[in-house]
Amino acid sequence: MFIGHYAAALAVRRQTPDLRLGHLFVAVQLVDFAFFFFVLIGVERLRIVPGFTEVFPFDLHDMPYSHSLVATAVWGVVAGLLWHKLGKRPGREAAWLGVAVASHFLLDVPMHTPDLPVLFSDGPKLGLGLWQSWIASTLVETGLFVAGAALYLTRPGRTGPVGRPTWILLGVMAALSVATPFLPLPGSTAELALQSLAAYSALTYFAFRVERRA
Ligand SMILES: [Zn+2]
Repeated sequence: MFIGHYAAALAVRRQTPDLRLGHLFVAVQLVDFAFFFFVLIGVERLRIVPGFTEVFPFDLHDMPYSHSLVATAVWGVVAGLLWHKLGKRPGREAAWLGVAVASHFLLDVPMHTPDLPVLFSDGPKLGLGLWQSWIASTLVETGLFVAGAALYLTRPGRTGPVGRPTWILLGVMAALSVATPFLPLPGSTAELALQSLAAYSALTYFAFRVERRA
């Protein structure tokens, strides 16, 4: 899942008036930031296999430290604790940040082929494989995104017309949720990792910009 992860950020933003959308954009993709960083330094691996699924040609065969159920829970707890202790932010807000981080696993399960480890390495792997169908995965991904956007735009305390930067960000994300599988294939896993990290960073930057007066 790519854009669908941000549905969790948009929904959680409704619960946390002082947490900015940009913080939540990092939180919901923290696991993917970690994965592609680990790919670059050789700690985790994927293979580019054309036709591996209808949506993504990536065999994500080795990602125990970023994407396992146990690891994702640890990432969520650690992120929440750091936010609370080092960031000196309220516990409730830190808990929601942790939930946003951990949502990554739940949202990946329906899409991935069975490549999401429960434990760190050996053992069962989860994934319902919706990526095998472009139509099914686009419906789920876009549907989640639209629901998240609606929750975000109707959040309590938001007043006045929705600004143009917000519409542009949401529009770009809606377009990406449909178009991602048709983007050109990266030439190497390192190229894919750098492209992905750049895309997550750009979306995060614009999420901060959208709420820059907050
Ligand atoms: Zn992921």
